[in-house]
Amino acid sequence: MNFGLTEEQKMLQDTARKFAEKEIVPTMEEDLKNHTFRRETVKKMGDMGFFGCGIPEEYGGNGFGILESVLIAEQLAKVNASWRLPLNMQNIGPALTVNHFGTPEQKERFIPDWVSGDSLGYFAITEPNTGSDVASMKTTATDKGDHWEINGSKMWISQAPYGDWGLLYAFTDREKKYKGMTCFIINLKEMEGVTVREITTKMGLANSPTGEIAFDGANIPKDSVLGNVGDGFNICMWQLNNTRISCASGALGVAGASIEAAVNYANERTQFGQKIASFQMIKASIAEMVAEHEGAQLLVYRAAWLKDQGLPNQYETSLAKLVASESAVHCANEAMKILGSYGYSSEYPVERYLRDAKSFQVVEGTSNIQKLIISGVALGEAKNR
Ligand SMILES: Cc1cc2nc3c(=O)[nH]c(=O)nc-3n(C[C@H](O)[C@H](O)[C@H](O)COP(=O)(O)OP(=O)(O)OC[C@H]3O[C@@H](n4cnc5c(N)ncnc54)[C@H](O)[C@@H]3O)c2cc1C
Repeated sequence: MNFGLTEEQKMLQDTARKFAEKEIVPTMEEDLKNHTFRRETVKKMGDMGFFGCGIPEEYGGNGFGILESVLIAEQLAKVNASWRLPLNMQNIGPALTVNHFGTPEQKERFIPDWVSGDSLGYFAITEPNTGSDVASMKTTATDKGDHWEINGSKMWISQAPYGDWGLLYAFTDREKKYKGMTCFIINLKEMEGVTVREITTKMGLANSPTGEIAFDGANIPKDSVLGNVGDGFNICMWQLNNTRISCASGALGVAGASIEAAVNYANERTQFGQKIASFQMIKASIAEMVAEHEGAQLLVYRAAWLKDQGLPNQYETSLAKLVASESAVHCANEAMKILGSYGYSSEYPVERYLRDAKSFQVVEGTSNIQKLIISGVALGEAKNR
């Protein structure tokens, strides 16, 4: 067992930290206020090679694995959780999935542009009435001979308002239930019969655009299918098992930032003639935050490492996602308490940490869904995959 990061991995963390300081921090205050999404920042992340983890070099891969993507995401999220999302929407979602299930032609055509940041990616699973129960989705793709016709709507799709190529999940044969779903590679900007509306009511993740997509008889070419017709549910579950580790790494970043803010404040703020850090209840709160965060970090790194070894990891990924998400919310909440009224003010970042942290409990499968996966394996009802 080796719990240390290599020199190269530490350098990568440093690179991601410096990237955030140079490219995100200078305009962050204004961007948070205006909910600005900077498309050019995604391109710069691509230029840095951040989106090439787990991808073969011939398609733009950077020679790193999922663990390295986790390290990058954690550092970016520590500054602003919105900016860990492109790692998921470019690399860990679309690029990795097409690399696993796509034809050589699809890999060559789509992956390099997601990796470089030239094509803005997304994956569209959720619908207005379909969240955790993916197989209840209503969107259909009908075989029209020389093309597929798409009808239905998707909701809460990250990056969709600016999206180019991405993944769409729809039923091609509802009668076949889980075996009747298919994954398609689509282009939102090149399709007729598509409307994308930005969702502007989110409580956090202010710099990550989220959208609703309506398909009304939209036509896509016959060769848009990823894998085989009917493979969509399996592809979706495979994809979610990867994208949820990216979410967990964002949660690590927010928890780490919350702890830093709490520690700095506790060491500065004086009440009753002493630093508040000297009060036992503050110490206990800090100790709990640190213990949870360190535990979450080990779980997330282990799950990413298992993925890189090609070993079963669904159970470990769900454990990591559950613990990291809950820890991010708890750490941000504790930090707010330690900062007192200043914690409640947008002058300090901890209220943003709490608002952003809440997203981790929902996206890529809620905490309850992670508990179902974990207990399924623990009770011997399901096999770890
Ligand atoms: C900021 C943001 C970005 C997102 N980005 C994307 C994206 O890019 N692509 C995409 O497809 N989706 C995206 N989503 C959607 C997200 O993945 C879903 O919201 C999530 O899967 C939960 O679905 P739901 O909100 O419909 O909740 P529901 O599934 O309706 O769940 C409601 C509640 O019931 C609980 N519940 C449901 N089923 C069970 C059960 N069997 N046992 C116990 N409890 C249960 C849930 O845990 C939850 O507490 C995003 C959402 C947000 C907020």
